[in-house]
Amino acid sequence: MSKHQPDLMSTIVSLCKRRGFVFQSSEIYGGLNGCWDYGPLGVELLNNLKQEWWRAMTLRADVEGVDAAILMHPKVWEASGHVANFTDPMVDCKSCKARFRLDILLEELALKAKKKILRTLEPEAFAGRQQDSRVVDEFARRIADDEIAEKIITTMVACPNCGAGESFTAARQFNLMFKTHVGPLEDASSVVYLRPETAQGIFVNFFNVLNSTRQKLPFGIAQIGKAFRNEINTKNFLFRTREFEQMEMQFFVKPGDEDEWFEYWREQRMNWFLNLGFSTNKLKWHQHDKLAHYAKAAYDLEFDFPFGFGEVEGIHSRTDFDLSRHEEFSGKTLKYFDDASKEHYLPYVIETSIGASRTCMAAICAAYAEEQIGAADGKEEKRTVMHFHPRLAPMKAAVLPLVKRDGMDDIARKLTADLQRFFRVFYDESGAVGRRYRRQDEIGTPYCLTIDSQTLEDNTITVRERDSMQQERIGLDNARNYLLDKLAP
Ligand code: ATP
Repeated sequence: MSKHQPDLMSTIVSLCKRRGFVFQSSEIYGGLNGCWDYGPLGVELLNNLKQEWWRAMTLRADVEGVDAAILMHPKVWEASGHVANFTDPMVDCKSCKARFRLDILLEELALKAKKKILRTLEPEAFAGRQQDSRVVDEFARRIADDEIAEKIITTMVACPNCGAGESFTAARQFNLMFKTHVGPLEDASSVVYLRPETAQGIFVNFFNVLNSTRQKLPFGIAQIGKAFRNEINTKNFLFRTREFEQMEMQFFVKPGDEDEWFEYWREQRMNWFLNLGFSTNKLKWHQHDKLAHYAKAAYDLEFDFPFGFGEVEGIHSRTDFDLSRHEEFSGKTLKYFDDASKEHYLPYVIETSIGASRTCMAAICAAYAEEQIGAADGKEEKRTVMHFHPRLAPMKAAVLPLVKRDGMDDIARKLTADLQRFFRVFYDESGAVGRRYRRQDEIGTPYCLTIDSQTLEDNTITVRERDSMQQERIGLDNARNYLLDKLAP
């Protein structure tokens, strides 16, 4: 089980602000809950991540890309089930007016409270088995989707915000979609929604993509884009926000082939994380035991955040549910004609659905480290370092003249300008070189290129590698190829 480190989370959040990764949205007005802005380094990291996903998913013959509009015909969301079912049960505290998601309140109950509740609600089940934590765990799992959850919350749980007892309203269903209107009239006929997921833009374009590319099953459609959910409880920095980005791919297969493709995509997606430097012990699969009625199988890929394991990506075997619903609601056939078998059928779908913003946060948490290293005076010093994979790192290299004289700074500026045609590169001439290394370590720059007096003699420079802190000398003229080589996929 992972050890939770809430302090680490606040250290990371403050580093993100200080170094320009992530800022609170509209901060000068006090912020807007559940919304975050990416700063100069954050946007580079996020873009690199999206680019890695796009490359992995679309640099292959059997996946096409699209970029659908955020606003879609409102019937899309009736067909998808979001109008009727994309809801969370919530309760309000009558005393302080705070609003909570019922399931999250339950989740956060301490084991002790669960024991007390079990003893009150089911004294027989509990009698004589006080020591059996399995009974308590099983009960805790059961109440998570039972109507007694509401009874517990409304009668036994004090408000975590103001401490008032028996102060919760009955649970109400709250739809998470943001509504707005198209055109000047704000009536029911003009309602549209900000999309809560990107997937539907793929489903409704299934035939357009099929016809324009002449793909054959099996093939996939990938998309990266913003999604909006009016989450009741936003929390944990970028983990659950109201505006975020998703990277989704729907892979259309012949019915009967879905299990094989499901396993294939599970493996691909795990490998994507591993290839970007995530370690296996920070990732785990969670298999859903409670499936939506249309789903055949579903796994979450979870990352070990400082507050515990949380989902970063879902892999879902969705049958022909989505296409059949769009067929029904649009009145248009979406059946595929299989040349080989001469049959018409609705393809089955394997979905891979990952949050770009949530994965960006996972990449930051995975990279962050505080290390003791030997200092120049023989003592130890602490360095804060982001061990980003070089392809994710916001800055690929820093160019540092050892001193600002003898032409070292001129050479360094020229090298910076050369490299900037290919990579994000940072020029820094201020302070002792050791301090400059630390500043780059803290933002995860993988290579520091130093121009020193030897450069003036033999045209070589020092490359200092961030993780090992080892230095090697390379030719000045070779710097671009050196970086190209290190950053190659
Ligand atoms: P959760 O319940 O953990 O918020 P979910 O099961 O509703 O997520 P999906 O609908 O499967 O999530 O969305 C796919 C991915 O989109 C998630 O794995 C996550 O990375 C991302 N995602 C979903 N909701 C949010 C959110 N509110 N903020 C940031 N990312 C999100």
